[in-house]
Amino acid sequence: MALIYTLCFVIISYVIIAGKNEYHRTGWIGFVRRSFVSVVYFARSVVEKYIPTAVTHRITNITDYILFTRNSFIQLLYGFLITGGTAIYTFKVIPNFDTVNAFSIIEYILITINVTLFWVCSMKDPGIISTLHHSEYMSDYEPDGVYYLAQECYTCKFVKPARSKHCSICNVCVSRFDHHCSWVNNCIGKKNYKFFLGFIVSTAILCTYTTFLVLVVFAYIVISDGLTTMKYEDHDGKQYTVGIRILTQYLLVHYPFLAMLFLTVFSFGLAMSGFSLFHCYLVLTNQTTNEFYKRFFPGKHHTKLSRQTRMTRPRNEATTLKASKRRTSSNKNVSSGTLSKKAEKLDAQGRTSTPYDKGVWKNIAEVIRG
Ligand SMILES: [Zn+2]
Ligand SMILES: [Zn+2]
Repeated sequence: MALIYTLCFVIISYVIIAGKNEYHRTGWIGFVRRSFVSVVYFARSVVEKYIPTAVTHRITNITDYILFTRNSFIQLLYGFLITGGTAIYTFKVIPNFDTVNAFSIIEYILITINVTLFWVCSMKDPGIISTLHHSEYMSDYEPDGVYYLAQECYTCKFVKPARSKHCSICNVCVSRFDHHCSWVNNCIGKKNYKFFLGFIVSTAILCTYTTFLVLVVFAYIVISDGLTTMKYEDHDGKQYTVGIRILTQYLLVHYPFLAMLFLTVFSFGLAMSGFSLFHCYLVLTNQTTNEFYKRFFPGKHHTKLSRQTRMTRPRNEATTLKASKRRTSSNKNVSSGTLSKKAEKLDAQGRTSTPYDKGVWKNIAEVIRG
């Protein structure tokens, strides 16, 4: 069950995230994603038809508040999961050991490290760029002329340093912006990225380690309860040896908390291990998630840049609506085309990651320095 669940989770995540990428857009993965999105929109239209508008607005507002504003909802969810997991471990796993041994102590050390890194990620300044420290951040990186141009942030009213981004949720520009993390309710940037990396790696280790301990306890239960030698009798009186299916049902019914803990840490452990490996790859190649996304979806990025280029043109240039539209259209083509050619040219020169790649050891040192 856990394997099927995790496999489905990984496949669905990949299709949703990578389905609109240019490599998959025209293939079957793109087709599956488009079909999935159509079904979601259809389901939404059906729901909107039969549920009063006031209720759907309320649900949309709550979802937007949780996902797209700074709030502690998901932090509280983390608190609930870690507290619940620790409680189940303390009261349901430990009693199966004869003594409180080193395995249990390691578990509590891992939990402490994980909670501490979570707290540091949530509280630490990610590298918010203020007018006071603007020149300091400007000198960190040079604009590469492809993904980073010398553009002004219209909200903060200064030229955005290379590799920075304005976070629409926190409403600030952040140096070496990686992404906004709803789990820690904070931006992940230059100053807290190493703690974020530590947090996701420690979560992966904690979940994998707990999975191992729960499996040991399950094995102990199976042996001590004599399940391997027992026979299962069906309604007709036929007897069978206890297989995996009966064993799983027995453990789910008789040890629901342990089964719940196992399914949670196993699926989280797998997901967080993949996420950690992805971020290790980003560190080694000196990329941020934001930059990886720009490389992965270049068309979207160029459209965005061309839109920004249009925004920077002074209003008094447009004399008539017709002329404005003609110029906008031509400017869009030139801007997008020029940037695409520039990116292709750089890739043809053998650029395998970002222009900020300085080699593995220097890339690691840059993240550690923060
Ligand atoms: Zn800004
Ligand atoms: Zn943010």
